[in-house]
Amino acid sequence: MDFSALALSPPLLQVLAELKFQTVTPIQAQSIPVLLQGRDLVGQAKTGSGKTAAFALPLLQKIQLSHRRLQALVLCPTRELCAQVAGEIRRLGRRLPGLQVLVLAGGQPVRPQIEALERGAHLAVGTPGRVLDLLQREVLDTRHLSTVVLDEADRMLDMGFREDMERILGATPKTRQTVLFSATFPDSIEAMSRAFQKEPTRVTVESAD
Ligand code: ADP
Ligand code: MG
Repeated sequence: MDFSALALSPPLLQVLAELKFQTVTPIQAQSIPVLLQGRDLVGQAKTGSGKTAAFALPLLQKIQLSHRRLQALVLCPTRELCAQVAGEIRRLGRRLPGLQVLVLAGGQPVRPQIEALERGAHLAVGTPGRVLDLLQREVLDTRHLSTVVLDEADRMLDMGFREDMERILGATPKTRQTVLFSATFPDSIEAMSRAFQKEPTRVTVESAD
């Protein structure tokens, strides 16, 4: 399947062609239509299967660029993963004029992040600890968030971020779309899905090996 079979906007299709993303990976083929419909999703696929674009393309498609306020939040377990995911989102979004993507990761000075949030952004990628800190300082406005993504949710739980994630989700609009990606499905992930998602579509791509 190629990307033109998905209902993606012309600027996104143009970038995908420029980046030579010719075929849709299985997790992308199954996730993108569900996410474009605004539905909740639990996705499982091995590393390197293209999960970032699977959630990033629908996020980018839905961003209202004319409103420079936070519309999507992606939580990742580490600063390095935040930088990687934000880099991929910026690359895929490079034909969206004025798109602002922030990294809100711990282990870095908080002041520049506060200032960037005050200037306004469309999308943020952060670690649970730092995002919660910014929420508590009342600089992160969750009122316009329409989608929250938990990327590598099992790793975030392993790292002890459960409570932070729960508090962040509890502070976001009930009407949000909640997307959860995880490499494994222990009971703790099932429990988070039950607590924070509405009738999620379950997508599992078995590894080829
Ligand atoms: P995961 O999160 O599943 O581990 P990533 O989203 O990091 O995987 O993707 C792994 C690599 O594959 C990245 O370099 C990404 O740019 C590339 N990639 C993703 N989707 C496609 C695609 N459809 N065609 C070509 N390359 C892709
Ligand atoms: Mg990933």
